[in-house]
Amino acid sequence: MYSIVLQILFLISINCTVIINSYPENECNLDNKLVDEIQSYKNVTKQIIDKIVSGGFGTKMYEDYSKFIDTFGARLAGSKALEKAIDHMVNLTRQNGLNDVTTEEVDIPYWQRIYESANMFEPYLKKISILGLGTSVSTPAEGIKAEAIVIKSFDELEKTDENKIKGKIVVFDPPFVSYGETVVYRSLGASKASRKGAVATLVRSITPFSIYSLHTGAQDYENNVTKIPTAAITHEDADLFRRLQNLGEKIVLKIHMSYAMSRKISRNTIIDLKGKESPEKQVIVSGHIDSWDVGQGAMDDGGGMMISWFVPVILNILKLKPRRTIRAILWTAEEPGLIGAEAYLTKHINETSNINFIMESDEGTFKPLGLDVAGSTNARCIIAEVLKLFTPIDKMKESEYPGSDMTLFVQKGIPGASLLNENERYFWFHHSEGDTMNVQNQEDVVACAAFWVAFSYVIADLSQDIPRQ
Ligand SMILES: [Zn+2]
Repeated sequence: MYSIVLQILFLISINCTVIINSYPENECNLDNKLVDEIQSYKNVTKQIIDKIVSGGFGTKMYEDYSKFIDTFGARLAGSKALEKAIDHMVNLTRQNGLNDVTTEEVDIPYWQRIYESANMFEPYLKKISILGLGTSVSTPAEGIKAEAIVIKSFDELEKTDENKIKGKIVVFDPPFVSYGETVVYRSLGASKASRKGAVATLVRSITPFSIYSLHTGAQDYENNVTKIPTAAITHEDADLFRRLQNLGEKIVLKIHMSYAMSRKISRNTIIDLKGKESPEKQVIVSGHIDSWDVGQGAMDDGGGMMISWFVPVILNILKLKPRRTIRAILWTAEEPGLIGAEAYLTKHINETSNINFIMESDEGTFKPLGLDVAGSTNARCIIAEVLKLFTPIDKMKESEYPGSDMTLFVQKGIPGASLLNENERYFWFHHSEGDTMNVQNQEDVVACAAFWVAFSYVIADLSQDIPRQ
């Protein structure tokens, strides 16, 4: 479990830098009949988009979304807020006329933030803001007072004499290169520093931009390591510590951190619009309903969850039943390590051959651009052809593992795609108090929803399955 989660964290991250490639069309030899069939969806996709964008359905969806976010706020895995939010989405589905909605229980960890504070005592007294990383242990009640050492990389940590680390608070200040490359200091920093005798770690927040902002996220203790408290600090404080160290100043910090850890039952939410010809075959559209305990989880992943929920609901209202079943899944407990998706996959392992395609939106719902696609060349050729229906939302990026929860499915050979959008500023807000409705522009979210609905309708309705090979 431990190594899987880390491997996955790494995979999630590599895909976060968005580079858009146009698809090399000369590699595709699609059958003319299939091309004609795909192009015959031009009218219906236009109708779907018009109804959502101009016909009032998109406005209503955005209002439901905004109300959801403001009513429940942050939805930490294990919290009561998350379970109430899940109940609300189940009820909202039924209120919209779709009764094929169920939940499946998942046993999840509940890591709860109780109290945090930090001060610099030397070279002068200064308050330092900290934000504990998910699964961090507490400090002793009296706190930890120790000298700090600032370390730029694991390489530098490795080369530093153990005596210089022992008993100290290690401050990691890696420069932000990309989320994928830099997040390892958040996920592994405490274990690495603990092996050299550190008593706590503080990690420069994993973001390219800061106005004294703190960014939390999951971290994991390696096996057989002394668990030491670990928290994020701002770029501003990390850079200050670096400059003080360069000046030869001794830095002394005192930190107090308190957390509770228990287990809770949460639920994945499953909403089906049954297919009219092959109901056993599925196209999954998904996003996660849980969030971190800071901000409102409006961007990560309220927007992605909402547009995925909207797919079967609006198609049912528009009386557009595709050949295959469209299954929306609102994953629980993504943030602590894809726990809801893993539980779903275990429970439904015998159905994986029936999953024709899986979609996930978990990297923002800013202005839509197209899709980040995993699958065989054949699969990608079909997706590229379908995307032509949505110009200018027709960009295609190819990744081995796009998305987060869907990684588990893609690893099983199931083709899939995540939403490509103008998310250059995603990591400014990610896992911070800044992830609020203010980040979410109505026009962009509605455009994402319209594209998401119309695209999944075509995939679920095509006469041909998306090929795995
Ligand atoms: Zn997310």
